[in-house]
Amino acid sequence: MILFRNVNKHFGDFHVLKDINLTINRGEVVVVIGPSGSGKSTLLRCINRLEGITDGELFVNETPIHHKKTNINKVRRDIGMVFQHFNLYPHRKVIDNITLAPKKVVKVTDEEAKETAMRYLHKVGIPDKANSFPAQLSGGQQQRVAIARGLAMKPTVMLFDEPTSALDPEMIGEVLDVMKTLAREGMTMVVVTHEMGFAKEVADRIIFMDEGQIVEEAIPAEFFSNPKEERTRTFLSRLL
Ligand code: ADP
Ligand code: MG
Repeated sequence: MILFRNVNKHFGDFHVLKDINLTINRGEVVVVIGPSGSGKSTLLRCINRLEGITDGELFVNETPIHHKKTNINKVRRDIGMVFQHFNLYPHRKVIDNITLAPKKVVKVTDEEAKETAMRYLHKVGIPDKANSFPAQLSGGQQQRVAIARGLAMKPTVMLFDEPTSALDPEMIGEVLDVMKTLAREGMTMVVVTHEMGFAKEVADRIIFMDEGQIVEEAIPAEFFSNPKEERTRTFLSRLL
C-alpha cells in the first residue's frame, strides 16, 4: 500500500531522510519510534507530500507520489492524518469540523456528510459533543474529533504523528483505545509514538529511526526483547 524505494530527502544541505526503503502492507499497523529529530515526522509527511522527496520513489496505492504530475489532492483523500496538535477549526462546531472536507472535496450532500460524521463521532465515543466547539472539549476529546474527521474521508490509510504527546496523561488512554479499535478493524496505520505499551500491543511491526535512517525493523516481540542494533539498545535503555 505504501512503498518507499531508496528515498532521500534534504532540507537545503541537511540530509534528513537517508535511503529509506520501506513497505507497508494493507491492514498493517506500523509504529515508528526514534529520538527527537530523527526524521519520523518528515517520513510521515512525505507520504502525502506535505514534504516532497529529493530522490527515490514513493508509491501510495500504486500511485507515484514522487511524480510531479500526480494529482496529490486525489491521493490525499485516501490518507487520513492526525497530528500532535489537533488542528481543529476553533470557530466551527465539532460536526462542522468533520463534515467540511467531505462536502468540499468529495461533494457529498449535507445530509450524508452529517450522517457519516455522527457515525464516526459514535465510533470515537462522543456523539453528544457534535454541537460543541473545540474549546469546550478536553484535549482527549478534541483528538478523538480529529480522528473522526480523518475517518470521515474514508481513507485507506491513517497516519498518526505523536497523537497523544500533547495530552494530559489521564487522556492518553481514551485516544489509544480508539486507535486500537481501528487497528483491530483492519485499518492500515502508520503511527509515530512514544507509547511503548501501544507499540507492543498493537504494532505488527516496529520501525526504529535514528539520524534519518531506518536502523532496525522487527515485530514487537523481537524488537523489545532482542534488539539487534547497538543504537536501538541504547535508545530502549534510555526509555526505562
Ligand atoms: P522527528 O519527528 O523525528 O522529531 P523531524 O522529521 O521533525 O524529526 O525532523 C528531522 C530533522 O529535520 C530535524 O533536525 C529538524 O530540525 C529538521 N527539519 C524538519 N523540518 C524542517 C524544515 N521544514 N526545514 C528544515 N529542517 C527541518
Ligand atoms: Mg516529529
